[in-house]
Amino acid sequence: MTKEEILRQYFGYSQFRQGQELLIDSILAGKDTLGIMPTGAGKSICYQVPALIFQGITLVISPLISLMKDQVGALNAAGIHAAYLNSSLTQGQYFKALDFARQGRYPIIYVAPERLLTDSFLDFALNAKIAMVAVDEAHCVSQWGQDFRPSYLKIVEFIDRLRERPVISAFTATATSQVREDIIRILKLQEPTVLTTGFDRANLYFAVKSPKDRYASLVNDLERHRGESGIVYCLTRKTVEEVCGKLIKDGFAATRYHAGLTDEERRCNQDDFIYDRSPIMVATNAFGMGIDKSNVRFVIHYNMPKNMESYYQEAGRAGRDGEPAECILIYGGQDVVTNQLFIEHDQDNEALDPETRALVQEQDRERLKKMTFYCFTNDCLRNYILRYFGEYGSNYCGNCSNCLSQFETVDVTEIARALVGCAADCGQRYGINVIVDTVHGANTAKIRGYRMDENPHYGELSKVPSYRLRQVFNYLLMEGYLQVTNDGYTIVKLTGQSGGILSGETKIQMKLPKEQEPSAKVRKIKKTAKGAGAAGDLGEREQSLFERLRSLRAQIAREEKVPPYIVFSDKTLVDMCLKKPVSREEMLEVSGVGKFKYEKYGERFLLCIGGEG
Ligand code: ADP
Ligand code: ZN
Repeated sequence: MTKEEILRQYFGYSQFRQGQELLIDSILAGKDTLGIMPTGAGKSICYQVPALIFQGITLVISPLISLMKDQVGALNAAGIHAAYLNSSLTQGQYFKALDFARQGRYPIIYVAPERLLTDSFLDFALNAKIAMVAVDEAHCVSQWGQDFRPSYLKIVEFIDRLRERPVISAFTATATSQVREDIIRILKLQEPTVLTTGFDRANLYFAVKSPKDRYASLVNDLERHRGESGIVYCLTRKTVEEVCGKLIKDGFAATRYHAGLTDEERRCNQDDFIYDRSPIMVATNAFGMGIDKSNVRFVIHYNMPKNMESYYQEAGRAGRDGEPAECILIYGGQDVVTNQLFIEHDQDNEALDPETRALVQEQDRERLKKMTFYCFTNDCLRNYILRYFGEYGSNYCGNCSNCLSQFETVDVTEIARALVGCAADCGQRYGINVIVDTVHGANTAKIRGYRMDENPHYGELSKVPSYRLRQVFNYLLMEGYLQVTNDGYTIVKLTGQSGGILSGETKIQMKLPKEQEPSAKVRKIKKTAKGAGAAGDLGEREQSLFERLRSLRAQIAREEKVPPYIVFSDKTLVDMCLKKPVSREEMLEVSGVGKFKYEKYGERFLLCIGGEG
């Protein structure tokens, strides 16, 4: 079969996406290949399609048990024989799977990296024809990445022991150049084809909010997404417990996930989410790696996460089916402090020698700073993200909260001069709060204790609200007119650029959101709400068909004990509603319906569409 035929027959898609074809061709030509693509871009198909063309076995190295299980489930549902080998199998199951593997039953086998060098696995691998080793989540080999896994270092040793060197392919969604170089070096890729596809996820809407009442803001967003599935990320277990408890009391079908729960409870809650029994998951960042749920319609961060890498990865779990989805970050000043504490007390770093540890902490603080700037920028959020990952977006995406707010350009030179002057005159000894309070003229014990009430700038801008002073302060930080040290206490320091502000040479202009009429705000929320959701663009009749198809899918999922999206994705159901197929041929034209799935489910869905289901 050709690669196109495989795509159509097994996966039910009519064409490859941007980048997929190039990567597949490179692999088929026998070249080592590194694919860097954002979550949801379709990395798996890049190694699964060649695996079905190669003579021999493809080993897929994957870090997480849940991820393997999901992928293997999806492959088998599509009629492809695949297996996984990891610690979730009993001894008996493991050896049985190895036996089948020896008989050549599986073109694709998922293996945990810890298994590779075990005697039993080597005994199999050294006597089999391994055509390709595909390394999923390849950034796990890099100590610079945030998901470093020492067991990934075993991959090269394993490959070196094989009699014939297979094609090596590696895939990741982490794009920084340091990580990319690490992957190539550590996995010893030989003159690899490297392809980075656009990191943009056009279907995701990005927003940042800093409301007075976080919880009320969250409920407001959840109301707009009634009946849809999504994730609420919190920084700490305690917050997860609090928020989840309140949501349940307020009538939302929520469940929770964090490292403090028992394995059993975690698995159970995760299943409730995946099977849509509890469509809202409230969780710490422990949740999500390997969750392949395609119909996540929103990811709301109840706190600011520690860096942009985490943020984009977590937010990226929304809208994997390509349909519109929302990524909302709720920011509060306390989040910075909490994250700083995490950095100071990171247990993973305790094993490191003091020097390396200091270096890692330094990097973490730098990343936290960039994350904080994301919450304060008034420019296009998507553009900020893309620039962070080394790409250039346009300055206007039209699908983020900044692009959709109206801004006006305001001259803030006077405020800037007061803030910088205040920091200079106190000998660069104090933190942000002290500087802002001084300029604002706060009469507190702390200010008097530091004798800041004697600073020449004390009370200079008492009429300017403190939030505005803070906005300008953050802008000065972002643009490098001021900096903060971060060794335990944050202290405001001048930079090489500060002089121009003090002397009056530098004028500072800032884009600030126009104060909006409340009614206009409500209208805007309504407008975004309508477009959201996979089924958002369907007419009324199609909506009701969509609901019927959805319940048929739920029923089949229950019968077969698989998550609903393994049967068909939301996107496939939407396509059915639009095309309303009446025959086998027409059904096969629907995106996501391959031959194998048609044989299994096609007729039941045809009947349902015909109104008899
Ligand atoms: P990644 O691993 O890059 O995060 P996946 O491999 O899980 O992404 O793919 C994301 C979704 O896109 C899946 O539902 C997959 O079936 C779908 N997909 C992949 N390739 C195509 C394609 N060529 N056409 C349509 N859908 C595709
Ligand atoms: Zn934008």
